[in-house]
Amino acid sequence: MEYEAVIGLETHVQLKTKSKMWCGCPNEFGAPPNTNVCPICLGMPGVLPVANEEALRLTVLTGYLLNCEIPRFAKFDRKNYFYPDSAKNYQVTQYDRPSTANGWLDFEFEAAPEGVARVRITRAHLEEDVGKNNHFDRHSGVDFNRGGVPLLEIVSEPDLRSSDMAYAYLRALTDILSRAGISDCDLEKGMVRCDVNVSVRPKGSNTLGAKIEIKNMNSFSGVRRALDYEIPRQLDAVRRGEVLRQETRRWDDVAGITEPMRSKEDAHDYRYFPEPDLMPFEPTEAWLEEVRARIPELPRQRKLRLIKDFELPEGDAQVLTDNLALGHFFEAAAAGYRNPKAIANWVINNLPAKLTETSTTLESVKFPAEFLRELADLVDSGKISSKMAQDVFSEMFVSGVRPSAIVEQKGLAQVSDTGAIEKLAAEVIAANPGPAGDYRAGKVAALNFLKGQVMKLSKSKANPALAGEVLERLLKD
Ligand code: ADP
Ligand code: MG
Ligand code: ZN
Repeated sequence: MEYEAVIGLETHVQLKTKSKMWCGCPNEFGAPPNTNVCPICLGMPGVLPVANEEALRLTVLTGYLLNCEIPRFAKFDRKNYFYPDSAKNYQVTQYDRPSTANGWLDFEFEAAPEGVARVRITRAHLEEDVGKNNHFDRHSGVDFNRGGVPLLEIVSEPDLRSSDMAYAYLRALTDILSRAGISDCDLEKGMVRCDVNVSVRPKGSNTLGAKIEIKNMNSFSGVRRALDYEIPRQLDAVRRGEVLRQETRRWDDVAGITEPMRSKEDAHDYRYFPEPDLMPFEPTEAWLEEVRARIPELPRQRKLRLIKDFELPEGDAQVLTDNLALGHFFEAAAAGYRNPKAIANWVINNLPAKLTETSTTLESVKFPAEFLRELADLVDSGKISSKMAQDVFSEMFVSGVRPSAIVEQKGLAQVSDTGAIEKLAAEVIAANPGPAGDYRAGKVAALNFLKGQVMKLSKSKANPALAGEVLERLLKD
């Protein structure tokens, strides 16, 4: 029998807010232990939380970006459990009325039909992060700086089918979140953590197999490796006739294996109940409109638009999407120009090369984007050769002087005046009777030599194509 893997991810993302979820303590990474704390995030009795409005905005913005519904009523609930790194013996989260639900994410994935896969998003709800346990030789310590940091949990439907697909999904998801300023998604700083749920079933079956949950993964390559271990393990087991049971496992990155942690509690073990200290959240249309105004152009949309509007090859569009600053520079230069590909070449190749060479950044570039359009136009209209354009570009990069002025100053303009070229061509033919005769006798290659002579005589300023045409014409007469 053929089997398939079924994977659903619960992705926790720290939101990019100035302060924590319920208090004014800074939401900041790397401060000395227990310096960003107050009675509220330390869970002292009698304190009252106040919801961070920016965290609510970022949650709803995520909902919009993931094509979710945004209910007009959401609320917070207490999830009761005790862990040493949680100062309260509960976590405030959104249980049955989350801020956003029922969406989807389309992302590029090679193995999918037409290269795009869709994963449905069950919900994205707001909760709070816990502190961090640190284990030393003889004792352990708890750092509560992270306790109460706003945390978004994005739950996917079990629509993923392979480790590579899970990896591509995580990349796309965090791309969107960082692009929209929702989270920095810095994995090194633990800003993204993921619970990986995976089961196997006969291919084509509609029922789900027993779910194994691998907890608290903090790198995408780790997720991929854990799945590359866990899927074959489950397949082996079912092929041997073993019945898998729902359980929670831990990924041991050093050994490269998953191992049992505990059999999974059911949801009711948490004794959820509505958080009595917080009002339900009922966004108004005006508030939602404000959030919608913050929806940015997403990477995939952007790439498709660049391909469509500027007729760029996919590779160019990808570079100008991945590097947003270069992309903006390109758009400023290419807007309305007849040959955007020429500008893309300058922006993708020459400009970054110069920036690297001089260790400068795009922000400190001396010339405005429009000058690139002018430069491209000088080439496209035959005023200068593309070789000259390289020199003009170098000069413009150093001085910030506009290309037409450089061309004028240096007398670089290509001679495209037919009369002037005819004069030079006639001179060359007269001085080189041998090659001229060869050409007339049918030796086509002789034309190149004569063309070279015209270029030399003109100090490389003649328009080479035109020089060729004129020579041909004169030699036929
Ligand atoms: P819980 O509330 O116990 O964490 P859920 O049923 O809400 O469990 O699912 C959590 C995650 O597990 C979701 O991402 C979901 O898509 C995924 N999931 C649920 N059942 C399965 C299964 N049998 N195989 C793989 N993933 C699953
Ligand atoms: Mg779970
Ligand atoms: Zn605090």
